[in-house]
Amino acid sequence: MVPVSVYLNGEFLPLDQARVPVMDRGFLFGDGVYEVIPVYSRRPFRLAEHLSRLQGSLNGIRLANPHTSEQWTALIGRIVELGDTDDQSVLLQISRGPMAVRNHAFPKVVTPTVFIMGEPLVTPAAELREQGIGAVSAADFRWLHCDLKATSLLANCLLRQMAIDAGCVETLLFRDGYLSEGAASNIFMIKDGTLLAPPKSHLMLTGITYDVVLELAALHGLPHEVRDLRDEEVRQADELWMTSSTKEVLPIVSLDGRPVGTGKPGAEFARMFGWYQDFKQRVMRGN
Ligand code: PMP
Repeated sequence: MVPVSVYLNGEFLPLDQARVPVMDRGFLFGDGVYEVIPVYSRRPFRLAEHLSRLQGSLNGIRLANPHTSEQWTALIGRIVELGDTDDQSVLLQISRGPMAVRNHAFPKVVTPTVFIMGEPLVTPAAELREQGIGAVSAADFRWLHCDLKATSLLANCLLRQMAIDAGCVETLLFRDGYLSEGAASNIFMIKDGTLLAPPKSHLMLTGITYDVVLELAALHGLPHEVRDLRDEEVRQADELWMTSSTKEVLPIVSLDGRPVGTGKPGAEFARMFGWYQDFKQRVMRGN
């Protein structure tokens, strides 16, 4: 379904009428940052946290924030209002804008390109959750600022495609023998009843869902530890999960063709999924 309206540089217009100049640095260099915000019952989830992560990404690429939090809230609110569905996924993207001549150096005067689009939120089908997903592993060949949500996603695209080519859903990334994250998700593991996750660092994007999962573990008394996870221990996990705003929590049942634990979604996943759905109903939807 084509979104009714998107926001581009001060205007609300139909998606097929939204145009960005070819000299835009977002197009030529991937010079920009973005956020994806899930919206439940027309309420953007953890908007303050998304806007704060956006500010961190903007600081990291030395681009001034074109809007205040109040302005972002109003713009996102309007896009959500214009959407056809109550549950949406809102993309917002800011590039360093157009340049007169192709030059890596920043333009003296920067006019950022600001784009916001709402799409229907499509959460994973029940079968995917019940059967679990396959994953492959790869060396994390991305740069050293993976904590910035940058639009230059070439490495992530190449890494995710490895999973697709193998008939899988996600690629687990290992840097120097340690788990960083997935190509477009964070990764958790269960070993002997304890939830384990890699610590926040410049080597991974801190997911909003990552924080939610750790908060839910704390709330419900699931033992959890945040520490570096070696490749070998990840391969001996009882359970592996991937998390992201749109995929929520999904169980990974095979890694590089070998079963994870029993090869079926685990008991701890079922508990976390239940807590997540309950949280969604109570907090995200405000019921
Ligand atoms: N890591 C990467 C590389 C991602 O692209 C994403 C989002 N798709 C995440 C982690 C998860 O972040 P969030 O929970 O905020 O969606």
